[in-house]
Amino acid sequence: MDDKKKETQSNFTIDVKKLTKSFQQGNLTIPVLQDISFQVPDQKLVTLMGPSGSGKSTLLNILSAIETADSGSIKINGKELVGASEEEFTQYRRDQIGIVFQFFHLFPYLSAKDNVALPLLLAGKKKKDAEQKALEILNLVGLSHRSNFSPKELSGGEKQRVSIARAIIHEPKIIFGDEPTGNLDSKSSTAIMELFQNCVSKLGITVFIVTHNEEIGKSGDINYHMLDGRIEIK
Ligand code: ADP
Ligand code: MG
Repeated sequence: MDDKKKETQSNFTIDVKKLTKSFQQGNLTIPVLQDISFQVPDQKLVTLMGPSGSGKSTLLNILSAIETADSGSIKINGKELVGASEEEFTQYRRDQIGIVFQFFHLFPYLSAKDNVALPLLLAGKKKKDAEQKALEILNLVGLSHRSNFSPKELSGGEKQRVSIARAIIHEPKIIFGDEPTGNLDSKSSTAIMELFQNCVSKLGITVFIVTHNEEIGKSGDINYHMLDGRIEIK
């Protein structure tokens, strides 16, 4: 992996204060996040563990601007995300973040290369440039020999590499992953965690992942734990 970390790169931090979120079910209100406060520093690997139903995905979805919070503050480099306009959300999603899923969410009829190129095509880049960049990034994640394969011809670990390549092609500041190794065997999980470590150390991208795996949950620079809608450092 090339060393692309730029000396001049500005810091990227997330500062969450008193974040709350409830879901409404009929006339029942289910509190999910209760006054959550924590920080995500720049260029670190951050893990989040916690029992099922403790609100991990909800928190990640709010940080990824897929869902909105009820109250509280999320400062992205000092800029408030809670209550931001749709345009600001779109800009944040497009420029600053990359997302990786447990079940990959690759397009089954597109090749690895075309899956990776897609975000750039959607952002209006020329096909030739997008494809060239996709090949570069596939090379970076160790998959240049699979660029013409479709997802069904790839192993789980390879599919996750493709989705990480897709998540970093637009050079985001942070990658969010909701149990990104949850569907992988232990060898592939280790390899994917090494790739995430490289995203941090070589590319200067912050990585924030939810995990059920105890070992991974201890392996971050910061390891958070969620319980009953609250968060603490382990
Ligand atoms: P985790 O990812 O830690 O397993 P989630 O964030 O998915 O937990 O869910 C936390 C709680 O919020 C659960 O009790 C879940 O049932 C509830 N919940 C999540 N999404 C919704 C929704 N869209 N509508 C109603 N309740 C929800
Ligand atoms: Mg979840």
